[in-house]
Amino acid sequence: MATDRPRALVSGASVAGPVLAYWLERFGYVPTVVERTPEVRMGTGGHAVDLFGPAVELMDWMGLEGQVESARTVTRVFSFIRPGRPPVDVSAETASEGVSSRHVEIMRGDLARILHEAARHRVEYVFDDSVAAVHDAGPRVEVTFERSAAREFDVVVGADGLHSTTRRLVFGPEAEFLRFLGGYLAVFTAPDHLRLGDRMVAFSAPGRTAAMYPVRETGQARVVLLWRTPVPHDVARHDVDAQRGLIRSRYGDLGWELPRLLAALDQADDLYLDSISQVVMDSWVRGRVGLVGDAGYSPGPAVGGGTSLAVIGAYMLATELASAGDPVRALDRYQQAMRPVVAHSRNIGPTVMKFLVPRSAAQIWLTAQAMRVLPHVPDPLRRRLTSFGGSAAAMLREARLRRPEEVPLARPSPS
Ligand SMILES: Cc1cc2nc3c(=O)[nH]c(=O)nc-3n(C[C@H](O)[C@H](O)[C@H](O)COP(=O)(O)OP(=O)(O)OC[C@H]3O[C@@H](n4cnc5c(N)ncnc54)[C@H](O)[C@@H]3O)c2cc1C
Repeated sequence: MATDRPRALVSGASVAGPVLAYWLERFGYVPTVVERTPEVRMGTGGHAVDLFGPAVELMDWMGLEGQVESARTVTRVFSFIRPGRPPVDVSAETASEGVSSRHVEIMRGDLARILHEAARHRVEYVFDDSVAAVHDAGPRVEVTFERSAAREFDVVVGADGLHSTTRRLVFGPEAEFLRFLGGYLAVFTAPDHLRLGDRMVAFSAPGRTAAMYPVRETGQARVVLLWRTPVPHDVARHDVDAQRGLIRSRYGDLGWELPRLLAALDQADDLYLDSISQVVMDSWVRGRVGLVGDAGYSPGPAVGGGTSLAVIGAYMLATELASAGDPVRALDRYQQAMRPVVAHSRNIGPTVMKFLVPRSAAQIWLTAQAMRVLPHVPDPLRRRLTSFGGSAAAMLREARLRRPEEVPLARPSPS
């Protein structure tokens, strides 16, 4: 059926993409989401991610609080392993107190499924496809796809992650925008041989950390390895054998549970390995094309609050597209509103890395002592100690979200 409602293309159906599409539809747009994978990532796949403060509130506004709550991970305690001594335990709630009083940890697969479910009856989804070329011909953007027929949209948004195709096609090669934070991250699945229950366990040696957390109702655990290196490794993103070799060379002598975990690595079919890098762009909008979430301003995987940032950014973009009339002006206003939020987010990763991957034996000792005293110190000090330098709370504070009922509906697009 013909419509004069403005049309938006959203590339990527993980976190930012479905949140944006959901709100755009509610605010009067006709969104189409294109996703490269053949179907939405389901169930407990991927890694655990965090929703803090306003990102949790947005789930409430979408009516998803019950679903998100019942899918949250079972991790309730962080256990810091010390060789020859009892572990130091701290509750997950205490550990994130200085960031926000509202926090939900959830597997990314679960979150993506819930978000997709919320939007799919009112939003067109195209799986197993990708944008191939984007031409901003104003007042329409012409898009060609790898499989589907070419189409025109009023606005195009890349929500396609750290290695965004939209960014490469419209803004330039990835290398121009990635800022290496001096570390690597690997995640894979292993049997939960420690029967972790509600515990996440972590073991550190100078410059290297290994951690494990349980995956609800699967009998499996996710293994997370984080290590420091001054320069990026020369290992291709899809060369799994080379990646396994790299991990063995880094962790073969670590001790603790590593022999069993490295044996599990050989069986794992879901190894993820990447540098810990941020996306730093002077501008993440151009004409009628914009980027949202990791594609435009990833604060670094596993260290920077990227999921909350993606949810917040997607909502802010939807509100501007609804209220600014012209998409070019809307994208510009979205970028202005997000700048202070993004600026704070860039400080989170380097601070969190100091804690997650201590550089020296002295820092490991200090981390353990800080965790040990945490439950016993006065509230303000505890909040300071768990604020990771205050950047995460500052990022959330800068996110000024208009309530949905305050957002006007988008005007019809000019023919
Ligand atoms: C190992 C790991 C651990 C992490 N841990 C945490 C954590 O503890 N807490 C936290 O808050 N965040 C964490 N993050 C970061 C978090 O996952 C991201 O910040 C968040 O998922 C960003 O959402 P997004 O929608 O912007 O991008 P993504 O979740 O990366 O989604 C991008 C989507 O785009 C799709 N796509 C890619 N290319 C194309 C294409 N050409 N066409 C169509 N679709 C495409 C992808 O398939 C995917 O569905 C972690 C990340 C990683 C990798």
